[in-house]
Amino acid sequence: MDLKNKRVLVVGLGKSGVSAALYLRRMGARVTVSDARPSESLANEIPALLAAGVMVETGGHGVLTFRRQDLVVVSPGVPLSTPEIQQVLRYGTPLIGELELAAQSMQGRVIAITGSNGKTTTTSLIGHILRHAGLTTQVGGNIGLPVVELLAADTPDTWNVLEVSSFQLETIQTFRPHIALVLNITPDHLDRHGTFENYAAAKARITENQTAADHLILNAEDKPTQMIAAKTAAQIHWFSGNRRVKQGAFVHNDGIYLIRSEGDTPEPVLPLVEIPLRGAHNVENVLAAIQAAALAGVSLATIREAIGTFRAVDHRLQFVANVKGVDFYNDSKATNVDATIKALQSFDRGVRLILGGKDKGSDYTVLAPLLRERASAVYTIGAAAQKIEQQLANVVPIRHCETLQNALTRATAEARTGDTVLLAPACASFDQFQSYEHRGRVFADLVHALSNA
Ligand code: ADP
Repeated sequence: MDLKNKRVLVVGLGKSGVSAALYLRRMGARVTVSDARPSESLANEIPALLAAGVMVETGGHGVLTFRRQDLVVVSPGVPLSTPEIQQVLRYGTPLIGELELAAQSMQGRVIAITGSNGKTTTTSLIGHILRHAGLTTQVGGNIGLPVVELLAADTPDTWNVLEVSSFQLETIQTFRPHIALVLNITPDHLDRHGTFENYAAAKARITENQTAADHLILNAEDKPTQMIAAKTAAQIHWFSGNRRVKQGAFVHNDGIYLIRSEGDTPEPVLPLVEIPLRGAHNVENVLAAIQAAALAGVSLATIREAIGTFRAVDHRLQFVANVKGVDFYNDSKATNVDATIKALQSFDRGVRLILGGKDKGSDYTVLAPLLRERASAVYTIGAAAQKIEQQLANVVPIRHCETLQNALTRATAEARTGDTVLLAPACASFDQFQSYEHRGRVFADLVHALSNA
């Protein structure tokens, strides 16, 4: 799309909104940005925008701002149900997201990863393997750099490894990954998507522009993901932690195997013991990453070598320390119930689980069987505490702790040698922290203070 002199409105000044506005200016567009937050909350963003010649509207969306635009770029944080956005759609003004904006100018090949959980881990791992193999690789999207930021160094030989969320996929038009991955689809963000069907449909859009020349990697053990197979024109590759698949990567006798094309003999890739990450869910991430890297042309020997040198991404079931015989794990990124289930499944018993934060309309009762089996106690924090305590009453001992510090102190005092204190809160962090990273750092700092005491 030729953007020169086009009137473009960017809605929402998150990281990707700011990047999109500055990129559009560089392309010669006449750019306005609009954010519902007051200007004081955007003090870090506004100066660079004004300096670049962007018009800035804060503290709400003016009706006139949304009229007579040639293009509207909406940020993933802004719900499409926002009245002004609905109005834009009624006017018939083209409306896309930053991912689509960038994709329209991307020359390199794209590997796109979506799913409810495991996106960042799998995206990082694929980036790590491709770099290890010496391929020109950029990693971005929902993780790290906004996609428009990757355009500067993008060439036809580049592999762009992109983590994409359901919100980003809601606003694509032509986005067509050469290799697409859907790791799993479990209830998350239902506050925004309304129904599970809408959420699953947004994820499925990752393949809507793919052709028979492209590849789609799907989880054979996840029903909603399987359904996408019926909607794609791409070549399908499956992964499974439980059984052999026709075409794809799977676990057999404590090792991972790959069947490149249906009918081929399975090729051994690596034994499970070489995976430096904890939990069966991470085996799934590794399976998906192996398949993607193999399709990008990386040899199985190089893939094996690269996996051996990968480390857990911060705040994702990350080992923090062992203090007096007790392990401490930081899984602050477990912001939904499914991620917490996966975390619990990664330990056999003696888990002291810190739960709570900002509720996302979740059902915590599904944790009950695993808690009975593996947890010694639950320590609740934050705004969701009461709901959690009601839903899990009589399942395991529950301690009402309010703050992370109290929870950690109490859990540490009660822990026996061999126990694990696990922060996997099943909630968003915003009631008490700036972000899940902030929550994870506070946890890790408190643990380190314990080990130095
Ligand atoms: P995302 O980017 O999709 O949020 P992350 O890799 O950041 O994924 O992991 C988010 C949370 O989900 C962490 O708590 C992590 O331990 C857990 N997790 C990672 N991979 C999976 C998976 N394949 N299935 C379920 N949970 C997972």
